[in-house]
Amino acid sequence: MKIYSFPQGGISFDDMTVPPRYSSVIAFLPGLSVIPLVQHTGCRAYPIVSVGDFVREGMLVGRGQGPGSANVHATVPGRVVRMVSWKMGDNHINDALVIRMAGSFERLGKREEFFPWRGLSPLELRRLISEYGIVEMEGVGSPVSDMLKSLHSIKEPYTLVLRCVFDDPWLAADYVLCRERIKAVVEGCIITASAARVSRIVFAVSYKEKELGAELLDEAESVAQGLPLSLVLVSSRYPQRNRRELMYALRLYEKREGLDFGSPLFLGPATAAAIHDAVKLKKPILDRYVAVGGSAVKTPQVMKVRIGTRIGEIFAECGGFIDTPQRIATGSPLRGRVVADLDEPVVKTTYGVFAILEKQMGGTAVRNCIGCGECRVVCPVGLDPKVLYKSIHTKQKGGAVWERAGECHGCGCCEVVCPSRLPLSTTIVNSIYGGHPDVS
Ligand code: SF4
Ligand code: SF4
Repeated sequence: MKIYSFPQGGISFDDMTVPPRYSSVIAFLPGLSVIPLVQHTGCRAYPIVSVGDFVREGMLVGRGQGPGSANVHATVPGRVVRMVSWKMGDNHINDALVIRMAGSFERLGKREEFFPWRGLSPLELRRLISEYGIVEMEGVGSPVSDMLKSLHSIKEPYTLVLRCVFDDPWLAADYVLCRERIKAVVEGCIITASAARVSRIVFAVSYKEKELGAELLDEAESVAQGLPLSLVLVSSRYPQRNRRELMYALRLYEKREGLDFGSPLFLGPATAAAIHDAVKLKKPILDRYVAVGGSAVKTPQVMKVRIGTRIGEIFAECGGFIDTPQRIATGSPLRGRVVADLDEPVVKTTYGVFAILEKQMGGTAVRNCIGCGECRVVCPVGLDPKVLYKSIHTKQKGGAVWERAGECHGCGCCEVVCPSRLPLSTTIVNSIYGGHPDVS
């Protein structure tokens, strides 16, 4: 099968401080868990429990308030001991229920019960996905039921694309999940296809993971019941979460094979598995796979962590820090969000947590542009980040250079390669979008 490269730009990204990809380690259950009432960029859920109440594992504790909002569930049994609010690294204020673990678990350690879903209508499937608070388990974390509902009115065919492009070492958690829960990932895709009347499923897989692609396809063929399936192998350049670049690779494949994918619906493997759990196990998102690493961490590893576990506890389970970290953030070093406090919890979208030493950052001092042109070379959409950055700083936005500025998707490549440590993508994205665009 032909391998397609992204058309331009991108960077190669080796990082020896990421966790190994063999298997996951189950993290300790948190004695105190912090359950934020919003775990994505949408609206906050309305709390339906109060301080002093006892909650069960998986119980609804925050009700979503319409489109853009998602239900929130307790991930451990216990008592709500207080409500807290704090300012996050990006200055947003978040609030959360703090639950002190107590009592017995209803799901943990118990045999799973499977519920039949084949006879359910798309509406019923979407209702279950909404009820169990399923959001995209990465990026901005859009509620999946909203995504599926918006597709419902589209007339043209559309294709579900399972994104399994894992060469970015910081996608280790997704990779391990895909290996350990391949049946749930595949069935999650089939459920989604039924909920949204998808006309084809495409498995977009890294070329280096051909075998995994074949396994996904094999697994899907046994449960797809005639739904067309395709395996598309893509090359291993960053940015790999970038929808636009991946779509380009898919369009080339489509043309070559004489297919019509129509509009794409992208899902990551963690989201597909969460959809499976909601519909087939009637289970909210209680935990997730998280890649924990960075040069400051003694023993990087992929961990299966309860939502609400404080980030400081996860680092402690990885042996703590070698030295004082210069930067602690969630996501990946390429596209991370700085953590303001080690008491911040793991949420539904936390796929990675890292702590890095100053030497891994290549120094922290910002210097003047030396005109090396590296940022322009790596930009996947052919912008000149240096010029955009300069025009923002001199308050001279406008003219030809800004006509295409909206094509910036915040991949972070320019910022990573800049030898002067200029905050290029951060500044450009803030200026254009007032925050991070939904491109992951
Ligand atoms: S962040 Fe924007 S300007 Fe920088 S490389 Fe990516 S697309 Fe180009
Ligand atoms: S990579 Fe940094 S130093 Fe080089 S041209 Fe771009 S902004 Fe200037």
